[in-house]
Amino acid sequence: MTQDATGLVKEGRRGPRAVGGRRGEAQKQRYLLLPQTLSVKELAERSGISPIDVIKQLMRNGIMASMNNVIDFDVALLVTSAFDIRARPEAAPEDRGRTSGDDGAEDPAQLEPRPPVVTILGHVDHGKTSLLDAIRATKVVDSEVGHITQRIGAYQIDHDGQKITFLDTPGHEAFTAIRARGARVTDIAVLVVAADDGVMPQTLEAINHAKAAEVPILAAINKIDRPDADAERVKRQLAEQNMLVEDWGGDVISVPVSATTGEGIPDLVESLLLVAELAELKADPHRAARGVIIEAKLDRNRGPLATVLVQSGTLNVGDHIVAGTARGRVRALADDNGKRLKTVEPAQPAEVMGFGSLPDAGDPFTVVANEREARALAEERQRVEDAQRSRPRVIGPEDVHTGIALSDAKELNLILKADVQGSVEAAKASLEKLDEDGAKVRVLHAGSGTITESDVLLASASNAMVVGFATNPEPSAERVADREGVQVKRYDIIYHMIEDIEVVLKGMLEPVQREIITGQAEIRAIFSASRTGKIAGCMVIEGRVTRGARVRVLREGEVIHEGGITSLRHFREDVTEMGAGTECGISMGNYADFEEGDVIQAYRRERTRNA
Ligand code: GDP
Repeated sequence: MTQDATGLVKEGRRGPRAVGGRRGEAQKQRYLLLPQTLSVKELAERSGISPIDVIKQLMRNGIMASMNNVIDFDVALLVTSAFDIRARPEAAPEDRGRTSGDDGAEDPAQLEPRPPVVTILGHVDHGKTSLLDAIRATKVVDSEVGHITQRIGAYQIDHDGQKITFLDTPGHEAFTAIRARGARVTDIAVLVVAADDGVMPQTLEAINHAKAAEVPILAAINKIDRPDADAERVKRQLAEQNMLVEDWGGDVISVPVSATTGEGIPDLVESLLLVAELAELKADPHRAARGVIIEAKLDRNRGPLATVLVQSGTLNVGDHIVAGTARGRVRALADDNGKRLKTVEPAQPAEVMGFGSLPDAGDPFTVVANEREARALAEERQRVEDAQRSRPRVIGPEDVHTGIALSDAKELNLILKADVQGSVEAAKASLEKLDEDGAKVRVLHAGSGTITESDVLLASASNAMVVGFATNPEPSAERVADREGVQVKRYDIIYHMIEDIEVVLKGMLEPVQREIITGQAEIRAIFSASRTGKIAGCMVIEGRVTRGARVRVLREGEVIHEGGITSLRHFREDVTEMGAGTECGISMGNYADFEEGDVIQAYRRERTRNA
């Protein structure tokens, strides 16, 4: 890697060559390397985006920040991606080389071939889960009697002595969440397209996710057993997305399959091995293990259990392991059949018992020499995390009222998760029976298991709330819920749930106050004036500000004052309104405690009756 004065890093594309129309192309990518946390000012300086544009873009994402606020990498990414700047997190010193086993940080002489890691992406109901199950059913490694096949988020198959690892976490969020943390886990993406349904919105999303990750894409045209299957139409639709399949003269491998009948599954597996062979995947197994947390859950008897994917080195029972702020000593290792393991090699997934707390999915893990080092690393990260807490608060509609608006049809949208399928059905039936003067519950999605990031994102996209019955949100889902302002409620007793939802339904028939942010201005300088007291010299950065408007003053995302604009001036003129991109002087009566960098937010309240 070479770094030039702008901080942009030139880097040859690593890892496998792309199949999706880019095979063999020695492509150079430029990335902006950014630390895990940085101030808004620093982001502007490093990216070359004007500070106003950075602040505006953050606001569009619901984040009120001023120049000195510290934001984290994920937030910075919201800004850079809007300006088509590709950014990656700088590796922290202790994490260097963590992202993949083949990133050149290792001694080339020590490298040995490793199996490919495959992720299955595609539109909902196109058969991702069925395909994962079908592949696994035909090729379970060493399924011994007494070992129950379980879903731990990843599994490995053996095809004539050649192994392939599948990430068993369907959903683009899991894939992207891991990538967002800078880890490169997947070597090959399988794009599932149902032959009867064709390319759908999430297919396109999947293509974009895979292309962004720069991994080869292999198309699995599924459900070919169905009478209305039309594989040729899928190929044509893929061609429209610049994914020309091989029998159309392109270089995207496509395999017709049926997860139901098993037809084509062996072809799919062989094609994967072929793509993997081209990629020449290697890792050094002779060092302390590094990898990524794929999933984590709390087990009543065994404590925190994490599914990890080892990316380089070998993980052993007894190792001291650190992932984010979670640490522990590996007490036991098991594969996806529940079989105990002593060691785990590169590209091999395993369930780790021994973490003291739940690590986050997507976090990289490292093995360190001893407990002292593990503690020091985890504590250092905790300090960084605590410092980040002071970052800007996200202001969303939930700050003003309950956050849930009843749609015109008087329906409360719910995403329902429960521990087991039986309780899903029971909870769903009783929720759907509720009727408060015509206000009803609409269950958009119901399923068993923990509340995931994807549930929360779905709720956010559909103005819904998430209800968990006898189940808990994953840590990552909690974070997303905070960020997106999604309400997540959990219950262990069904009538508590029913009572609560009844209250919400009733509440929704009441008029609610809705707040609309009409404009924002940042304070750039403070002036004193004999007549009006202190004047804030501002730049309007969003919307418009008007004389007489209700405003609040935000510092570091916290509200420090509420009041009204008593005088608005442009140069020496009194004006009634100023739009974005203009400078103005704002006075707020006798209030004088504002500082440079504060944000003046103008808003109005509307009473709406949702019913
Ligand atoms: P996912 O949402 O992509 O994980 O899709 P699922 O694996 O849950 O499958 C959605 C539905 O399609 C289920 O009802 C499956 O039984 C069905 N399905 C999946 N693969 C096939 C297939 O190859 N043939 C047929 N006929 N149905 C399939």
